[in-house]
Amino acid sequence: MKIRLKLTLLFAALFAALLLAFSLVVYFSAADQREEEYFNRLRQLAITKTRLLVEAKIDPAVLQLIYKSSLNTLPQEEVAVFDTAFHILYHDANEIDRVKETNGMIDSIKTLKEIHFYVDDLQAIGFVYTFAGKTYAITAAARDDDGLKKLNTLRLVLVISFCSAILFTLLAGMLFARKALAPVSRMVDRAENISASHLDLRLGTGNGKDEIAELAITFNRMLDRLEGSFDAQKQFVSNISHELRTPLAALIAELEIADLKARTAEEYKEVIRQTLQDARRLARLSSDLLDLAKASYDQSGINFKELRLDEVLLDARKEILKANPGYRVEILFAKELEESDLSTIYGNEYLLKVAFINLIENACKFSLNHTCSISIGFDARTPLLRFSDQGIGIPPEDLAHIFTPFYRGENKRHAPGNGIGLSLTTRIIRLHGGTISVNSEVGKGTTFSIHIPSSIL
Ligand code: ADP
Repeated sequence: MKIRLKLTLLFAALFAALLLAFSLVVYFSAADQREEEYFNRLRQLAITKTRLLVEAKIDPAVLQLIYKSSLNTLPQEEVAVFDTAFHILYHDANEIDRVKETNGMIDSIKTLKEIHFYVDDLQAIGFVYTFAGKTYAITAAARDDDGLKKLNTLRLVLVISFCSAILFTLLAGMLFARKALAPVSRMVDRAENISASHLDLRLGTGNGKDEIAELAITFNRMLDRLEGSFDAQKQFVSNISHELRTPLAALIAELEIADLKARTAEEYKEVIRQTLQDARRLARLSSDLLDLAKASYDQSGINFKELRLDEVLLDARKEILKANPGYRVEILFAKELEESDLSTIYGNEYLLKVAFINLIENACKFSLNHTCSISIGFDARTPLLRFSDQGIGIPPEDLAHIFTPFYRGENKRHAPGNGIGLSLTTRIIRLHGGTISVNSEVGKGTTFSIHIPSSIL
């Protein structure tokens, strides 16, 4: 059920309940009042006749004549006067006798002093009247045609006004709910047009203050983030295809040239060496991309456990030296490291090793002595690692961009690479709640500093 309909029905039901309660109170209090007034009227009428009978001593036959010829008699009017021994002293028209007085009735009138009752549609009253030491039991009955007619009219008016008020409330509620929810409908229409190819569209934020505007603003912010990551992905994919195409094109060209004519064994060897180098670069690129995807998009699937930074670092050095026997990696451990457990962090061993390998490799490949010096210590009880080299350094204009995926600095001609290493390293360090910063001077060397929070604190 739509909220608009739900709101309207809820509003109408609430109003109907209130109106019904109000109508019932009005109707029943009017009915009570009519009944009360009619009993009073009957009593007055009976007292007048009794007075004429017992005080003015008017003959019952004359009284009956007055009753019959009176224009003011009530419908089915019937007054009877008894003494306490149940002797009838007077009765209005003998032919109308619907109240069948009994000894028991007279007794209960005597005991209760006044009783009210109904004989079919006749309203009847019985009460005692005392005059000159004598007690009389009087009954009076009549039908309140006028009062009942008025009550029926009131009922009809109440029913008609109740139905029309509910109808009006339903219509007004519909209009009101439609007006109140119009911004939501507009949001739905607009949101339907937002798709992957139209991610630049935004929802209208109306007055910018109410809850619906808040929802639209939040939704727009989400779209901003989505658009950003969507653009980044698009950029990423186009960069990847470009990066893959270049070595592949080189590989194909080398093989085609070699195939143009017969070559000497030495020449074939050279081609194989070249193409093997390109193939290795491609393999490295694809494994770097896989790691980048792991660190960027599938964080939930990454296993974290407690591990020691110094051990991961030693592993990374071992791997590098195995692949590049010409490199030198020096590690300087701070003294506190042996005494404390602060170098224990909560992290993923594989990813951290990838990050460290990237930094060590960069330091070695961008320096003539192919040496990376690492120091591991603490900065205000937070583990701090420094990867330094005395290499060619990074020009200041490149410093702001080296962490961007696929960016290679102006010094790239000194060493091969694909521009993914540092962006991957940054994501891995951030994934571990850490920070990375760089300090470099052209011709003197570069230092990357990494803070990773310890799991002990
Ligand atoms: P790659 O090393 O494959 O080019 P990276 O993302 O690892 O890609 O590094 C990006 C760029 O940062 C490098 O191309 C290089 O210009 C610069 N760079 C990174 N580390 C160093 C370093 N230790 N010395 C000099 N330049 C560096």
